[in-house]
Order: sequence, then structure tokens, then C-alpha cells
Amino acid sequence: MTWPARAPLVGDMVHYLDQHESIAGKRVCRAAIVSQLHGPAEDSLTREPAGAWDVDLMVVMPRKLVAKEHVVQDDTGHGSSGFWHWPTEHPPALA
Ligand SMILES: [Zn+2]
Repeated sequence: MTWPARAPLVGDMVHYLDQHESIAGKRVCRAAIVSQLHGPAEDSLTREPAGAWDVDLMVVMPRKLVAKEHVVQDDTGHGSSGFWHWPTEHPPALA
């Protein structure tokens, strides 16, 4: 288990990667505002801390805001679908 460099705070701007949304076959990162911090996420099998943070997000869509509850962090490989990650420069495949 490795812990991320820093814990998110309410009001932080992060990226959210939707499980179902893609544009021209590419996954789309959305800006999201951390609206609540639940604390360290648990591994679903072991119930041990998973080295990620569990937060509520307000995801910024082009024409609306969408609330997502209990979204878990995944910074590996620029993020996995259904998870949030810190904004970073993305590889061309995801840009
Ligand atoms: Zn992203």
C-alpha cells in the first residue's frame, strides 16, 4: 500500500473519468470539485486502507453539474473509469 502525495480537500479541483462516457471512442476526463471527503478508501476484499481517498464529487459537464457519491481515487495510468485522479498531463491517447 502506498499513499498518495496528498489528501484531497473540500473545494479541490480533480478529474473524473466516467465509466460510460466517451467522445469519438476516447475516454473523457471531466473537471470535478471535491464536495465531501469521506476518508481513506477500503479495499473491498480485505477491508484494509487501499491507499486511495473516498470523496463525493460535483462533476462539471458542458451544460450541467452532476453529483457523484463515494468516488474512489485511482491515479495509476492516468486514472481508471469510474474513479477520480489528480489533474496531470495526459498521454495523446486520452487527450
Ligand atoms: Zn484526467
